[in-house]
Amino acid sequence: MNILVLGGAGYIGSHTVKELIKAGNSVVVADSLTTGHRKAVDSRAKYYEGDIRDGAFLDKDFTEEKIDVVMHFCAYSLVGESVTNPLKYYNNNIGGAITLLEKMQEHGIKKIVFSSTAATYGEPERVPIVETDPTVPTNPYGETKLAMEKMFKWASEAYGIEYVSLRYFNACGADETASIGEDHGPETHLIPLILQVPLGKREFISIFGTDYATHDGTCIRDYIHVTDLAQAHILAADYLMHGGKSDIFNLGNGVGFSVKEVIETARKVTGHAIPAKESERRAGDPAQLIASSEKAKKILGWKPEHDSLEEIIASAWAWHKNNPDGFED
Ligand code: NAD
Ligand code: UDP
Repeated sequence: MNILVLGGAGYIGSHTVKELIKAGNSVVVADSLTTGHRKAVDSRAKYYEGDIRDGAFLDKDFTEEKIDVVMHFCAYSLVGESVTNPLKYYNNNIGGAITLLEKMQEHGIKKIVFSSTAATYGEPERVPIVETDPTVPTNPYGETKLAMEKMFKWASEAYGIEYVSLRYFNACGADETASIGEDHGPETHLIPLILQVPLGKREFISIFGTDYATHDGTCIRDYIHVTDLAQAHILAADYLMHGGKSDIFNLGNGVGFSVKEVIETARKVTGHAIPAKESERRAGDPAQLIASSEKAKKILGWKPEHDSLEEIIASAWAWHKNNPDGFED
């Protein structure tokens, strides 16, 4: 397949590019490098630098390249920042999707796989969460992703653009070569922050809230390896290429770990004591998010291969140890 990966210099995008190439696909990456890294892009992929809100930039990509499927990872995704600066999120996440859909329609490109999130659900009524459960986001980031899903649905009906929306739970881990991995600035995700302690970059990890209604009082999340997410994108593209209809899929392991359990596993993996300090809840955090991914397993044939938390953290640790300053750009 010929795949255009928008946001392919980012964390999940760069891992997907690598897996796509490994599977024999031809890959073109387009990225603004706002949060991504040029060095994260596999050298075998063709690369265009620009912003997807710029219609002329997309015209160039779509004219110069023959594209079967678009994979769309571009977004701002910091929950806290989305609360203090919501328009930045509406502008990039929704603005980007509008220009992209207009240009796909103009250039006759009819298939897209895009990044959605567990944040579309908000505070769930039950776990594991299935795709038909209520979607009531508790922050502007989740709202923009839900609005994107709805925009894709209507565009699908009106213009025949078929989409797959993948609602990831907590993406983590790194490629087995430890040559690419997570490098967000600022970093807000639990696992890379925990690993900053054994790296000597942070004295302790804060536990945000110990009074949740969970077995140890800390929040529970479903941690899914980034390479398993990458594989789901390849399966979703195949599904669309074989006439699959527009649909939405959760992607998680179906097992939840508390913040305390994640810290304890990181201690085991790194052999470091990793001091932790209990602190206040972080605004907008649901107590538990656990995915049912039965639909992705049944329809896409997806099967997570790296589902042990220890293996996930070990892969992240290998990346951070080899690259303590990330991509250094
Ligand atoms: P990331 O910030 O590492 O990657 C996003 C990439 O998109 C970056 O390379 C950035 O430079 C690029 N980009 C952003 N806006 C752009 C624009 N207008 N034009 C061109 N390029 C642009 O983020 P990530 O963690 O890899 O997440 C990828 C996607 O997955 C995002 O859409 C995010 O909302 C979603 N998601 C991530 C997680 C997670 O745990 N990381 C969970 C659920 C959903
Ligand atoms: N968390 C924490 N300390 C930190 C960072 C995160 O206790 O320094 C908690 C956070 O409150 C949430 C979980 O770890 O319950 C996962 O947070 P992350 O930001 O990694 O992902 P999210 O679930 O918010 O997408």
